[in-house]
Amino acid sequence: MDQKYGSQKDDSDGDECYRAADSLPSFTPHPGVFNMEEARNAAYNMLVAIGEDPTREGLRMTPDRVARANKEMFSSLQVGKQIHRQAHIDHVNTSDFDELSDDLNDSTVEEFQDEEAGHILSAQFLVQAHGLICVRNIEFFSTCEHHLLPFYGNVDICYELADKASRFSYAVGLSKLARLVQFYAHKPQVQERLTDEITSAIMKNMDAQGVLVRVKAHHMCMSMRGIHATNAFTVTLSGEGSLKYGHGDKYVVAQNLLNVQA
Ligand SMILES: [Zn+2]
Repeated sequence: MDQKYGSQKDDSDGDECYRAADSLPSFTPHPGVFNMEEARNAAYNMLVAIGEDPTREGLRMTPDRVARANKEMFSSLQVGKQIHRQAHIDHVNTSDFDELSDDLNDSTVEEFQDEEAGHILSAQFLVQAHGLICVRNIEFFSTCEHHLLPFYGNVDICYELADKASRFSYAVGLSKLARLVQFYAHKPQVQERLTDEITSAIMKNMDAQGVLVRVKAHHMCMSMRGIHATNAFTVTLSGEGSLKYGHGDKYVVAQNLLNVQA
């Protein structure tokens, strides 16, 4: 291997260095809007780029299938009033996108996502109960934003009901926690942020004393390429409020993480 490229060298593509997206031509982002036509073209171009013939019989419908799959896998980017409307339009021209982007200028995609998370968690009810509620093993599939390859696994959520003098607390429907996980999984993601976003949304939208979220995941970018660590899994943990862990707890927390079974 030519040492001047070091670990950055690719195999034999003649373009050895990693290149950032903003150094590539035709980079015109439209945050929060799914463009079916551009997605089809991108899939078509990727087939050309890897040395395939997109017009051969087996691949003729592949760009369309890939575009539809991506629309579903990244559906959480398409949130907000304007975006919801736009998500149903497959063919739009550039001027439509510019107009839409102007409409969205005042609110970022992140703000729309916060709003949507609040909506998911709005189905709360009063219970005569206190203590902890834990939902374990919520399965999810997400996409690593570094390689656009899947990472998947399960999430455990534990939250502590409010300690009210009236003896009543607000709880959320258990299926809503699973919906929240799916919502944050359906966009380009990293496991650490997925964990934090679930935690923050519950803390922000519920009258909970604390919340603890644990995510365990296999990353295809670690197993089917690169290091080929096929059995490795990653565990992340995020706690807030009464379930936020302090310095003294870290050793116990780390030990528990290493003993994770589910
Ligand atoms: Zn990756």
